[in-house]
Order: sequence, then structure tokens, then C-alpha cells
Amino acid sequence: MLSLRKGPAIRCLRTIVPTLDPEGLARLGCSCVARLPWGEAFSGSVILCFALVLIGCGHPQATGSAEGFNLLLITIDTVRADHVGAWGYREAETANMDALAAAGVRLADVSTPVPLTTPAHASILTGLLPPHHGIRTNGGDRLDDTTPDLATILGAAGYRTGAFIGASVLDHRFGLARGFATYDDEIPFDPHAGLDAERPGRVVADRALAWLGQESSRPFFAWIHLYDAHTPYRPPEPYRTRFAAHSYDGEIAEVDHQIGRLLEWLQQSRNASRTVVVIAADHGEGLGDHGELTHGLLLYQSCLHVPVIIRASGVLPTGFVVEAPLSLVDLAPTLLSLLQVPAPEDREGFDGHDIFEALIARREPAGENVYAESRYAENFGWSPIAVLRRGRLKYIAAPKPELYDLKSDPNEDRNLLPGRSADADKLAEALAVLGSGEVVSHKADLDPEARARLQSLGYLGGEGVKARGAHAQDPKDMVALLQTYDKAQSALHAGDVDQSRSLLEEIVAADPDNPLFLGELAKACHRAGDLDQAITLLRRSVDLALDSRSLRYNLAVTLLEAGHTDQALDELRKVVALEPYRADARNALGMALAVTNDLDGAREQLEEATRLDPNDPRILNNLGDVLRGAGRFQDSERAYRRAIAIDSDYADPWYGLGTLYLQQKHPTEALPCFDRALAIHPGLHRARLNRGLAAELIGNRAEAIAAYRDFLARTSGDSRYAAQASMARRLLVHLEQNPNGP
Ligand SMILES: [Zn+2]
Repeated sequence: MLSLRKGPAIRCLRTIVPTLDPEGLARLGCSCVARLPWGEAFSGSVILCFALVLIGCGHPQATGSAEGFNLLLITIDTVRADHVGAWGYREAETANMDALAAAGVRLADVSTPVPLTTPAHASILTGLLPPHHGIRTNGGDRLDDTTPDLATILGAAGYRTGAFIGASVLDHRFGLARGFATYDDEIPFDPHAGLDAERPGRVVADRALAWLGQESSRPFFAWIHLYDAHTPYRPPEPYRTRFAAHSYDGEIAEVDHQIGRLLEWLQQSRNASRTVVVIAADHGEGLGDHGELTHGLLLYQSCLHVPVIIRASGVLPTGFVVEAPLSLVDLAPTLLSLLQVPAPEDREGFDGHDIFEALIARREPAGENVYAESRYAENFGWSPIAVLRRGRLKYIAAPKPELYDLKSDPNEDRNLLPGRSADADKLAEALAVLGSGEVVSHKADLDPEARARLQSLGYLGGEGVKARGAHAQDPKDMVALLQTYDKAQSALHAGDVDQSRSLLEEIVAADPDNPLFLGELAKACHRAGDLDQAITLLRRSVDLALDSRSLRYNLAVTLLEAGHTDQALDELRKVVALEPYRADARNALGMALAVTNDLDGAREQLEEATRLDPNDPRILNNLGDVLRGAGRFQDSERAYRRAIAIDSDYADPWYGLGTLYLQQKHPTEALPCFDRALAIHPGLHRARLNRGLAAELIGNRAEAIAAYRDFLARTSGDSRYAAQASMARRLLVHLEQNPNGP
């Protein structure tokens, strides 16, 4: 490649198209590069420079580029900038990040466009603000298939791409995976483990290092997501002891340690001088500032201000600190310019600003408007909020708007409104422009397990409750209630149902018409076994939020459990009509139909459910049961076997298979199935009874007697087993009275 270098395209565009307003320019981004033939980066650069010379678009001579370099993007979840050593925090143990900042560029004042993991990462990867990439919340929206991002662009330019994810909230189903050839989001899940829907940074780094170590002649783009600093704060040793009094910092120290391992690999593999390293947090953490313990609800600097470091040895200056307010959306266009990879021709442009030219020239980039939003409050029926930052002034659009001078008041203690309303009006106007042009959000199709995973992270999982129009509460007034809600969730995860229920009753008393809180209280009542109260609460919440399918689904399954089969069928049919692609609803409808003995109807629903979600062993087990009930033994066996193939430690299909063999008079095959079911789940007593029957059929009377006695002893006094117990007693009497067989 000749030493012809292009300057960032956006500045040329400003010269060519002077009539566009600044926001229009920002949205157009690098589109003069975009007209080049895709996939010809090398010749493209030459043609571009030639064209630029012809049209007289002068651009300063760049001192270098990172063309052909690898890109190592490490996102550190939930790390607020003022808890990193390079940002002046004295308690920090962040030697690796600090050294990287000294060897590269530290972007001192970057804001996240949204303090929520999925949308913030979408903004990092696409260079777009949430209104324009369409992911507004965690767990609900997915990136559509056409929006280009760093992975699709670099992949098309010949990069080897791999992502290594630390938490389910970035699961492949939210659309960020599609550009990566490898997307490692294998996060172990135990439905009873609650908060374990994440994996330690150590494991993520191990997996990434294994991938990085594979031989390749191509440059790589690796994205590594370290989730450790997110709640709960449980750092491993030695940080647990060292940071016993402030475990959040201990988690950041662990994150820094994992970053050190990745940087060490770069050194040892001689990749360091050929790799652009980027460290960026997706958002900060409240830690009690303005009453917010975690993040997502409010837009104060504790959650918006994130650490960002870029090192490109020999290309970017060392020890350079950029003070201008920037946004995470500036990363994608800047990194593409740094790597000299043009954006594809069909893209509209980035919201982010390309600051590559300023960085290599070691000067401050132009100050721009910085946008942020949060719609998290909408989950609770409260008002969404947004921010426009310009220089030192920060405006928060909320039912009660705020204006702060971050220079004189960095903690945002003194709201300048209503005094300086003229300033606020100007910022509000710019905010409206930046936030306009919303794209339609694509809904992620979540199975119940994914919903449960998200809930275990403290997120609401997809479908919220619509904000109550002009009367929606200001989230800053609801922060105490949210703290109580978080405590109730933690209590429920910890198994303290009573504590959770009483906290939720407190919340419902304070916000009585909030369907989400009613639904959560119903969940606690359900867990406590109070099905009647759960049904009453769910009926009220469904009336308040008619379009909430989750609430209606919960109502239906609770009705089914309580024995109100007809009402359950009614509700389930409504849920299926509203969401025909929802496997869990089809599964529940199938179960309800089976209860009414409509086995054909049940089979239809269950078959459709397995088609929608072929990997749910519970649905396959239910299908096996229904087919067995209908006498379709071969199909039934196939369904059980498929369930076992997915999860061999799931007891029910082993029980079903054993019973199927017993029905077909194959006791020798049945016996090991019951043994396996009982080894997995010793409380599955019906397997003991059937085990006795199998032993008796084989002719092993002693074993059969022992099995019946065992069954009777274990179910003694339990009315749910009354019918089976009386049968066991009869079988026992028969065996004991006929010691030599019939
Ligand atoms: Zn996050």
C-alpha cells in the first residue's frame, strides 16, 4: 500500500455539501467513503484520495494509520470512570488499564448513550444512538439484520471475528452476534441458581485466549465482554479480602487482572505492535448517588461517565488525554478510520463523530452535542428520560427537567432550573433533533428460560408496562420505591419468599395501580403457595395492562395449577392468539388440553411448541406423555429420547420412558429408566412405585416388595399420593399372601 492516506471522510463531506444542517451531517457520517465499491479497501483508499484532490477537499496529512492491525475491543460492564486509577481514583487497583492509558489515548470525558447493557453495546458496535439502532431496553429489542456494525464491516473486510460474552443480557438472540463468525455466549444456566446467568471474566478470557491462539493469516477482531463489576459484587481472591470494605472496587481489580492477561498474550504472541486495543465501559454504577444503587433508571454522571482507552502503538500518540465531551457512539467511526476500513455503501452514516484525525494530530476534537436516554422507567409505567450535554451544561428532559453546570457542580447537586430556562430550551431543541428519526424496534423472541435468565440479572425481561402518558411519574421521585423493589427481588432469589412478599405489599400500597408490581406480588404469593391471592392480583394486573401477555400467561398457568382448567384454557387461547410464536404458551395450552382429555388438541399444541423451540426438553417430555396416553408408543419414545438427548439429567423423560416400556410389557428395559430417574430426582416417588411393578413383572418379588414398602414409607400422609398408595398396599398384600407366586 502506498503512503496515500485519507482523512476522515466526514470533514470532506462538510466541504462538499454545505447546505446540510449539523445534525444531518452527523447522521450522514462517512458516506463519501461509502460510495466506494465494497470489499476493495486498498484500491478504494487510493481512488478516494484521488477524488478528494480533484474536488479540492483539503485534509491534513495524517502521520500514520493502523491499516491491517488487529482490533481487540474489551468492554468492561458497569465500570464508572471515577473508579479507575487513570481517572484519579486512589483506591483503585487498575495497573493494567492505567499503563494502557499511559501508552495510548485516554478519552477522559466519554458518556454512554444509555446506561443499559444491550443498547449501550449496540451503540458501541454500530456507532448509532439507541433511537437509530432500535435497541432501547435490555431483553426486549434486537438489532435488525441490516444495520452494519463493527463485526459485519470488519468481517466483510476480511477480518477473523470472535466475541466472548460474560452475561446472558448480550445473548445472541439480541442480534449483536450476527456479524461474528464465533459468538461464544455459552453461559451455564441452572433455573434455581438465580443470579448465575453470568460467567466470570476469568472464564471469558480463557475462552478468548484459546480462540486468539489459533493460527491465522488474517487480522482478528475480538470483542471480549467482562461482566464482573455488575451486581452482585463478589470478587474472587485475593481481591475479596483486599477489598472487603468496597467489593465493587475489588471486582474492577479482577477485571483489570483479566485485561492484564489479554495484554500479556498480545506481548508474548508479538501482536502488541499490530493490534489496536480499546477498553470501554458500557455504563457506570450509581453506588447510592442520587439514591440510585445500580444503573439504568437515572441519567446522572455516576452512570453515564465511562472510561475509554485506545492504544495503537506507533500510530496514536502516547499519554494523550482528550478532555472534550464524547460519546461511545464515536468509537465505531473512529476505529474504522484508524484501521482504514471503509463503511459499506448502503449505510446511512454514524451518529458518532470520527475523531481519528484529531487523535493522530494530538489535538482536542471539536465539541459536539452528546445524547443519552433511558427508557428503563417505562418498565414500571414511569416516564422515560433523556439528556443533552453541550460542553459544561447538561440538560435532563424529565417530567421535572434539570439543568446542571458540570464544571462547577460535577455531582449535579444544584439544578439551575427554572432560573436558566433559555439555556435549557436550546439544549432541549438539540435533544429533540438528535433523538428524532426513531427506527422501529425489533422484538427479541424470548423463550421462558431466556426470560428467567434476564430476571435473574435484575432486568424485567422484554415486555414492560406502558408509561402512563402525561401523568407518568418522574423516575427520580421513584428511586426509593425501586430500591425496595430491588430488595424484594433479591429476597425472592435468595428464597426468602415471606420477606419478598411483605416488601412487595409495601410497594403495591405505594403504587397501587402499577400492573408490574401487582404481577410481582402475585409471583411471591404463587411461590408461597397462595394461589387464590395470586389469581386475584393477576386478574387486577391484567385488567390494568390489557396488552401484557406475560401477565396473562402467568394468570393462565396459575389458574391451571389451581385446578380452574376451563378459565385457564380461556386465557391460554387468548395468549396464543396474541403470540402464536410463543412456545411456552403453546406448551401450557397443550397441558391444559391434556387435563381435559383432549389428547389430539394437546398433541397439536405441543408439536407446534417443539417446532417453535426444539431445544426445550420440558415440552418434548410433555409431548412424550401425551403420545403415550394416546397409545402412539413409537412417537412417544422418540419424544422422550429427544428430551433426554438435550438434557440427560432431567428425570421426567426417564420416568416417562420407563413407564412406556412397562406399558409395553418390557420390564427389563423399564427398570434402569426408573433407577436413572430416581438417581436424578429422589423425590420422584411415582418412579418407586413403577419400579416395584417392573421388578414384580420380571419375577423379582423381594425387590418388588421392597419398592412398594419404600414408596409407602416415603409418601405416608401425603394426600397427593392417596390413590397410588392404596394401589401399592393392594399389590403388597397380594405379594405377601402369595409367597410362591400366583
Ligand atoms: Zn452493562
